[in-house]
Amino acid sequence: MLTQGIGQGTAAVRLVAVEKVYGRGDNEVAVLKRLSLDFAAGSFTAVMGPSGSGKSTFLHCSAGLVKPTRGTVLIGDTDLADLDEVGLTRLRRDRIGFVFQSYNLLPALTVRQNIVLPSQLAGRRPNRSQVLAVVDRVGLADRLDHLPGQLSGGQQQRVAIARALVTRPAVVFADEPTGALDTRTAAAVLGLLRETVDAGGQTLVMVTHDPVAASYADRVVFLADGRFAGELHRPTAEAVAARMTRLGAWNDATVPASAAVRSEGGR
Ligand code: ADP
Ligand code: MG
Repeated sequence: MLTQGIGQGTAAVRLVAVEKVYGRGDNEVAVLKRLSLDFAAGSFTAVMGPSGSGKSTFLHCSAGLVKPTRGTVLIGDTDLADLDEVGLTRLRRDRIGFVFQSYNLLPALTVRQNIVLPSQLAGRRPNRSQVLAVVDRVGLADRLDHLPGQLSGGQQQRVAIARALVTRPAVVFADEPTGALDTRTAAAVLGLLRETVDAGGQTLVMVTHDPVAASYADRVVFLADGRFAGELHRPTAEAVAARMTRLGAWNDATVPASAAVRSEGGR
């Protein structure tokens, strides 16, 4: 059963009519437009859509990193608007893991230090076996004492993933977590993400542009121009690719990764 003791069907994350507007006056840009979405506890959801459709903004608003202009975001029973900065920081630290599109590793800290930093900030002693287990799963066991600058892009991405998973937070948000990985490493990471949901009862929301990555999820939610644009349950890569084509989602910035030859990104 689920570790958080939340029944299936309970929303771990809920957005109600969320709007995000950047700029003012003539420069005003509505990025999210009355977006309402539920993410069931213990579910794995992929979020897809054209470049610029608001996927990262949606993820940042959901995780309490960016404040919506209007609307409500709930993590479990907690309305993020009810929290002050301290409360928000505590909630992010204790209940949320976030894998940034740009990794956001601290360059002066080793791989090990980067991974245990969130637990240290929370005043918890990092659990050594938990650290070693997750590091082993992402294939970084022999890189623990390296600095981020000594790693390839794909390796840095895996450090960011290990950092988000190591405290086993109730909700993990991941922004294109396999974007810099070769096909084999991506499959290993996606298998690990799938397992955290199946075994740990955690809730995972992953932005991706790769139909194969999306096929690991229970559900795919499509965004277009800041709005909900449909969903697929038990997605296959083929069905996802077909839907993306219908959305006109593939432009120069989002080549379907499964159709492209990739190599692990170097620096
Ligand atoms: P996606 O992740 O789907 O590519 P984003 O959420 O990054 O989309 O961006 C959606 C739109 O919002 C883009 O047009 C982007 O330029 C705009 N945007 C994102 N962040 C900001 C910001 N901080 N200030 C102004 N505009 C922004
Ligand atoms: Mg993005």
